[in-house]
Amino acid sequence: MAGTKFAYVRNFELPDPLLPDTYLVCRLDGHSFHRFSEEHEFAKPNDERALKLMDHAAKNVMIEFKDIMLAFGESDEFSFLFRKTTNLYNRRQAKILTTLTSYFTSCYVLGWPEYFPETPLRYPPSFDGRIVMYPTDRAIRDYFSWRQADTHINNLYNTVFWALIQKGGQTTTEAHATLRGTVSSTKHEMLYSRFGINYNEISDRFKKGSVIVREISSERPAAFGPSTSIQPPPQFTNDKASQVLDPPRPKRSKAKKKVKLETTIEVLHCDIIGDEFWLTRPHLLE
Ligand code: ATP
Ligand code: ATP
Ligand code: MG
Ligand code: MG
Ligand code: MG
Ligand code: MG
Repeated sequence: MAGTKFAYVRNFELPDPLLPDTYLVCRLDGHSFHRFSEEHEFAKPNDERALKLMDHAAKNVMIEFKDIMLAFGESDEFSFLFRKTTNLYNRRQAKILTTLTSYFTSCYVLGWPEYFPETPLRYPPSFDGRIVMYPTDRAIRDYFSWRQADTHINNLYNTVFWALIQKGGQTTTEAHATLRGTVSSTKHEMLYSRFGINYNEISDRFKKGSVIVREISSERPAAFGPSTSIQPPPQFTNDKASQVLDPPRPKRSKAKKKVKLETTIEVLHCDIIGDEFWLTRPHLLE
């Protein structure tokens, strides 16, 4: 095929490499989920089935793409963090983005009947996606803080908004008007005094979103482990004679006994803005 007179058209395809040694964050967002959620009768403000289905799809993405260390989800969106050194598809942007986005979408659709057994899928959902490159740990921390702060702000607003409608008998226009210009403390107060809802008692899944993390579970030779494994960090020592990254091994040895770290994938609903989450998981930003 390569030798035909037509093959020159290939030259119009431009390379689209992502910068080396940068963190990659891929964020997907449901297309027109305002409509999708209405047509599929999502509970408001938070349909737990829908959130669990998003988690399910994201978890499957992390099982498939082993260089994803962390994912954060809220509403109809998910962000995936790839390790800095990933060489997935030679870091070709379109290849990574389209494969991940379509894989997530397929998992969402395949998982639908399990999470919505009573509600048939009425039309095919779709997700948009983008990849952003970040150079520093600080920027990654700030990125995830930004998303979780967004979850909190939206959830507080939506919780009062839907209480005003469902319990207060307001129309959507009236509810928006009631909330215009209100600060956070006013919303908390309104929820408590008018509807007896203590915001702090609302599920962490709604307040904090979903944090899906690759946790290190044990260390053993890769040959016997399951496929979800990552390389351990280099072991530096002060002993000059032993400043090597891996144990010495014969060149081109077939019996590579590289130690890999066994990992599991856990779904949490915890704070990721403070230091604790990151300090206890240094492997996320290696
Ligand atoms: P776009 O295509 O621009 O993303 P959109 O309609 O998807 O448009 P978003 O800003 O992404 O707009 O908001 C998603 C909307 O989907 C939310 O505002 C909410 O109405 C709905 N939604 C998503 N997930 C849930 C859920 N778990 N429970 C209830 N509603 C949800
Ligand atoms: P990549 O992920 O790089 O695209 P690939 O395995 O999908 O890898 P392609 O060059 O896209 O490689 O080739 C697709 C392959 O899928 C074909 O070589 C063929 O083996 C198989 N295939 C696709 N469609 C059909 C079909 N309709 N009937 C039989 N085989 C098919
Ligand atoms: Mg959007
Ligand atoms: Mg959307
Ligand atoms: Mg959204
Ligand atoms: Mg192919």
